[in-house]
Amino acid sequence: MSLRKTYVTKPILDWAKRALPSLSETEAEAVNSGDVHFEAELFSGKPDWRMLRDLQAPTLTEEERAFIDGPCREFCDMIDPWDIDHQSGDLPAEAWKFLRDKGFFGMIIPKDHGGLGFSAYAHSEVVRYIASHSATAAVTVMVPNSLGPGELILQFGTEDQKRVWLPRLASGDELPAFGLTSEDAGSDASAMTDEGVICKGTWNGEDVLGIRMNWAKRYITLAPVCSVLGLAFRLRDPEGLLGPAGDIGITCALVPTDLPGVETGRRHLPSGTMFMNGPTTGKDVFIPLDHIIGGPDYAGRGWMMLMSALAAGRGISLPSLSAASTAMAAHTTGAYSRIRKQFNLPIGLFGGVQEAMARIASNAYVLDAGRRLTTAALDEGHNLAVISAIMKYHATDRMRDTLNDAMDVHSGKAVIDGPLNYLQPFYRAVPIGITVEGANIVTRNLIIFGQGAIRAHPYLLKEIEALQEPDPEKALDAFDQHFWGHVGHSIRNLLRGGWSAWTGRGDAPADAGKVAPVYRRLSRWSAAFAITADMAFLTLGGALKRKEMISARLGDALSEMYLIAAVLKRWEDEGRNDADLPLVHHATETGFARIGQALDETIANMPARWVGWVLRPILRPGAHPRGPSDKVTEAAAKLIYAPSATRDRLVQGLHTPAPDSGLGRIDSAYRLVEEAEPITKRLREIGKTATEGREAGILSDAEFEQLERVEAAVQRVVAVDDYTPEELERLFSDMRPATPWPEAAE
Ligand SMILES: Cc1cc2nc3c(=O)[nH]c(=O)nc-3n(C[C@H](O)[C@H](O)[C@H](O)COP(=O)(O)OP(=O)(O)OC[C@H]3O[C@@H](n4cnc5c(N)ncnc54)[C@H](O)[C@@H]3O)c2cc1C
Repeated sequence: MSLRKTYVTKPILDWAKRALPSLSETEAEAVNSGDVHFEAELFSGKPDWRMLRDLQAPTLTEEERAFIDGPCREFCDMIDPWDIDHQSGDLPAEAWKFLRDKGFFGMIIPKDHGGLGFSAYAHSEVVRYIASHSATAAVTVMVPNSLGPGELILQFGTEDQKRVWLPRLASGDELPAFGLTSEDAGSDASAMTDEGVICKGTWNGEDVLGIRMNWAKRYITLAPVCSVLGLAFRLRDPEGLLGPAGDIGITCALVPTDLPGVETGRRHLPSGTMFMNGPTTGKDVFIPLDHIIGGPDYAGRGWMMLMSALAAGRGISLPSLSAASTAMAAHTTGAYSRIRKQFNLPIGLFGGVQEAMARIASNAYVLDAGRRLTTAALDEGHNLAVISAIMKYHATDRMRDTLNDAMDVHSGKAVIDGPLNYLQPFYRAVPIGITVEGANIVTRNLIIFGQGAIRAHPYLLKEIEALQEPDPEKALDAFDQHFWGHVGHSIRNLLRGGWSAWTGRGDAPADAGKVAPVYRRLSRWSAAFAITADMAFLTLGGALKRKEMISARLGDALSEMYLIAAVLKRWEDEGRNDADLPLVHHATETGFARIGQALDETIANMPARWVGWVLRPILRPGAHPRGPSDKVTEAAAKLIYAPSATRDRLVQGLHTPAPDSGLGRIDSAYRLVEEAEPITKRLREIGKTATEGREAGILSDAEFEQLERVEAAVQRVVAVDDYTPEELERLFSDMRPATPWPEAAE
């Protein structure tokens, strides 16, 4: 054995066994359930730009395009969002039927099982399109295609389950819901008390081995109307009928809702967004063993299965819904700021409003960039555990920021609710996006970096695995190899990070063109991030798991880097449009400022003070940029204020609204205002109103009438709804539940 191993590596190995996080079997299964992509390059400190640039830009097949132009449009045209959310509280029966008949619930199911077999990108485009019209409808379509029975059967189902269930799910004959959350177990879903016990029972008249289940789930989307529940529960085998007696662990099974003991039907009202959502209980419900997803071999492996299914769905559903909301906010706020005047000027010309508009436009650009990069990687067959968490958190968080900005700019117009208010439905849906598929605080603080560190770091997982190797000699060999590799990696990143922090030089592809400085700065921050993360592992070890604020900041830095990479990729894939550069700059400057701040605060809060003394002067995290300049901000805001190809690119692929809807009105007023701009400009220059202009012979009668039409169109946009007391009485029927949910009544 070498001297290094004996006298240096061995003591470090002994220390690391105590200090580094160990993985329980469940954690190890969850960590291994997804894979990594470009975030691992960012974690390496020296990203390989070829990987990013070579990734095929996502596109739709002809069939997928036709589905959006055909059934998606037809579906949206048949539903009225106001009616669903405020009057009927549900999609019309013909819309449900249409969704089933046209295969909306089977987008992810391959064609040979009767589904549409869409790519991740096409699936995302469908959700984005529908969400631009109705969040309620989008959630309805999203859920069966996201984490749930379909995805779980596809990934883990037995051949029989695939043969029996997938065609029925694809045709909509079976409508699934996915039940994980229970009354006391929300974010900590593994603490659920819902239980299944292995026992004998009767199924189709025969005595079989099965599971007797009891559960009380809440918040379950589609539960009130579903025909089959994909349930997660804790499985026990007290009599040892399946193997050694005892606790088997979290398990997922298919439970038809027509079985005796299953209760569904009651509804929650989720933030005024009236998709089907409600509680479900089960009392002594018996299912045979072959209802376990994956069969009895997968009993107890539910947590890994859920993590794996989440890695796919989480990267598509909410990011697509958020991209739709954000694009709609850019579209409407840009237009509204153009047509709404105060102090005799369109409000979009005021600097304060422009700041909000620039943020909206750049968020719309970034979110869609992230969505495209993520779906492109999913379509390459990756199961993106870390990236899907990044996208879930940042897409919904930026959607919230964007809608807040959009509401501010629209002011009273967006506050007063009614069918004419096109922002409220998006605004109301925000908390749902923030809460579901991993509530945002826990996703930011525990998951992104917590999982990213172990999954995407080039050495950490290998070191942890070496620590868990039972054979001491093998453990030492493996640890020696990975530990010294890790040390070399850290030193290189320290030098690289320091060099680029002081010289401004970092790697960029030779042909990067106008965005080469962005690549260079991303290289700089990648190295700085990698060494800062390593210092956090070194000084905090296993305690890093509990230091959520440090973990969250490192997760922020990683996420911002991923989104900047997505922006670079989008700019490239769309043909390097110079006109879009203000958005690229606004987005990346914002990202760099956040990364600098996140790393600066991480270092400042590291319990070992010496880390700051070493890293701060080398990496200069405090010398981070201030974010976008006023010039960039103004230029970015103008891109959504006036019609432009950039604006069209931002809002492409959204549903075309009915002419008399709130959205339809703003579209036509915006067009009319633009068409009349030469006339209004003439009047502005001479400081006259339209009437004065006509009297002075500066405006022809036709021009005057055109301005009158513009004014009428603008008034139709700024109009808000009001109601008679009788109308309001009808709207507000008594919403208090007359019959309390059984538990509440006891
Ligand atoms: C409209 C809607 C639809 C839903 N649909 C479904 C569905 O179809 N199927 C399903 O199974 N579930 C569903 N859910 C449940 C959803 O996934 C949970 O609401 C979510 O997991 C959070 O659980 P909770 O609401 O109990 O919050 P809690 O878990 O009580 O969390 C409260 C707060 O504490 C934070 N927190 C918790 N632990 C930590 C930690 N360790 N570190 C930092 N912060 C922490 C959370 O981020 C959150 O901010 C739905 C929920 C809603 C509202």
